Amino acid sequence: MMAFISVNQVSFAYNGKSVLDQVSVAIPKGEILWVLGPNGSGKTTLLKLILGFYRPDAGTVLVNGCPVLNLPSRILARDIAYVPQVHHMAFSFRMLDVVMMGRIPHKPFFFRYSKEDEHLAESAMARLGIVHLKNRPYTAVSGGERQLCLIARALTQGARTFVMDEPVSGLDYGNQIRLLTIIQSLAQEGYTFIQTTHFPDHALWMDGQVLMLKNGKVVREGSAENAITRTSLSDLYHLDMDVTQTRSGIRVCVPDALTSQIKKKSRTDTSNDQTKEGRNRQSGFVLIKSKKGDKGKWGRDMSM
Ligand code: ADP
Repeated sequence: MMAFISVNQVSFAYNGKSVLDQVSVAIPKGEILWVLGPNGSGKTTLLKLILGFYRPDAGTVLVNGCPVLNLPSRILARDIAYVPQVHHMAFSFRMLDVVMMGRIPHKPFFFRYSKEDEHLAESAMARLGIVHLKNRPYTAVSGGERQLCLIARALTQGARTFVMDEPVSGLDYGNQIRLLTIIQSLAQEGYTFIQTTHFPDHALWMDGQVLMLKNGKVVREGSAENAITRTSLSDLYHLDMDVTQTRSGIRVCVPDALTSQIKKKSRTDTSNDQTKEGRNRQSGFVLIKSKKGDKGKWGRDMSM
């Protein structure tokens, strides 16, 4: 499949300090690209280069075969929506007004919003479960709700490509999962997503392509299934990890440090139970457990 966005051998430095070194990645339409890497590895900078905010020191970024830096910003804004990590607004616009701002790239210099704009904005808010907040000031909602508002604005913009910086990081667990399912259904409708994340599990659950960055270099890329492994994650985060499969077939990442703590705790619990059991058997009581892992209840030993 032809790449919709291609990053070719891109290098970039802030004030002489190299941040990205010969990074290449090709993203076809309708694909989800997950950019993983420790803090400071260059993920946000890569997104900004893809959006044409910065000029690479070397290499090129092409959108639909055209250098992103040659595309007029208005045209780019219609095709690609950016959802930043933190976003502050000086004025207390209503949430609905912020979402409607997504229509600006479609408007002439002087304009009024139409009923159609309002309808598009409200349906995007409904899709993200925040339509009840439409009259609340943007400055008086939680960070997570603001994040959902920006995603609704991106949908209203009509862009078919979303570039998102850690989109789920400020969301509660329910909203994280809801947003992931929205992303998945939009990708199935042909939308393209390029997003950074600190949750490799999300890439495993939703599939797509993975790009792992470390110190500004690509250390691994490929399908989530192939790229997210015990070895690649352990190398990326300097943390021993396991990637294991649940009974329902979903793969999850489990840090070894947690596994050994839990094993130690369950060994201690079992040996405490056994000591108590020994003491109480003599007095005619046994620990009765209804299922494995159950703490159990002490009852009369009927075998005595
Ligand atoms: P990540 O998103 O992986 O955390 P960033 O792309 O934000 O990484 O940053 C990569 C490196 O570039 C970091 O060392 C960061 O401090 C530096 N950096 C980011 N933005 C700027 C900037 N505007 N000016 C100077 N250095 C920056």
